[in-house]
Amino acid sequence: HCPTGALRERDDIDQVMQALADPEKTVLVQIAPAVRTSWGEYFGLKREQATVKRLAAALRRVGFDYIFDTSFTADLTIMEEGSEFIKRLKNKENEKFPIFTSCCPGWIRFVKSQHPDMVKQLSTAKSPQQMFGAIAKTYYAKLLNIDPSKIFSVSIMPCVAKKYEAEVPAVNSAGSGRDVDVVLTTREVERLIRSENIQVEHLPEEELDTPFGIASGAAVIFGATGGVMEAALRSAYYLVTGKNPDPDAFKDVRGMDGWKESVFNIDGIEIKVAIASGLGNARKLIEAIRSGEVEYDFVEIMACPGGCAGGGGQPICEGQELACERSEVLYGLDKLNEIRFSHENPSIIKCYEDYLGEPLSEKSHELLHTDKSEWELNPKCCEKKVEKR
Ligand code: SF4
Repeated sequence: HCPTGALRERDDIDQVMQALADPEKTVLVQIAPAVRTSWGEYFGLKREQATVKRLAAALRRVGFDYIFDTSFTADLTIMEEGSEFIKRLKNKENEKFPIFTSCCPGWIRFVKSQHPDMVKQLSTAKSPQQMFGAIAKTYYAKLLNIDPSKIFSVSIMPCVAKKYEAEVPAVNSAGSGRDVDVVLTTREVERLIRSENIQVEHLPEEELDTPFGIASGAAVIFGATGGVMEAALRSAYYLVTGKNPDPDAFKDVRGMDGWKESVFNIDGIEIKVAIASGLGNARKLIEAIRSGEVEYDFVEIMACPGGCAGGGGQPICEGQELACERSEVLYGLDKLNEIRFSHENPSIIKCYEDYLGEPLSEKSHELLHTDKSEWELNPKCCEKKVEKR
């Protein structure tokens, strides 16, 4: 915290309250994977009490119409990013490697400002947050038979940089204003729930809404460093071989080391991967790639140490680094999930059947991909908000 109080965290709770009070609006909320590991910390809940289902119960009492899981679109991200990676790999002689994952806006800003010549190596897949926003205002508006402008889409993220991402014009493609109208951090959600005097410890667990409350274990581990890579490899294996691997076949990419690497063999194709979390480690890794010291095919980078579990919007527990403990929650949830592969999520299969066609289809490109070279580092709407404060 700023010791003089001159710098304040941006608080977007009022915008959400206004939307909830508007009878014309259908307000839906998506909950990011890492939020389920941490939201109960300020309430003093034990980890086994602070489940995503209890958070869903609290959010229903706040007044949200539909409670969904960003993990659903983490599965969608894997379908698109995994397919894109395999496509680029098959065209290796004409592509520049490594390919970088692209769901962390902190990392994207870093590449754009520090290594702009590498921007084209970022996957074009949008982050799960933005995929959710685009799907909510198109496919879901159609399912509900309402005008997309009547949908107010809120996301709960472990992240401050996601507020920036939602404002980038090039990432908003559903055609009805912003795809994600407001991003709340885990800390803001705690304040929102308290402001409504909801006693979370007395709430029962409640199911999330369908169809976007269904997600695989692969999607849930997105919140841990290495999780995106592991989920992508599980589905890449299926895409290449037509068979599922052992779901834990790629667990070497787990762990809190700031820079990890591994080599996997999928049907005779050798895939060299690396994972870094924290921008200091990302910088070292990029410099090693540039100098030719290391060579990879696929690299996951997350700006926050430990990944989103240790994200900048998570509860701050003085003197404690909780990313590791929170990540263990995610791996436990993955293990318990009956669906361990993104391509087996029934809601994903239906979404492709009914609306998108197939991964990398024209519709998918229109809604789920974005060229990061078109991203502005300081979108105008961001500047205005900074001026106002
Ligand atoms: Fe946000 Fe940090 Fe996660 Fe990147 S790693 S998406 S900056 S919380």
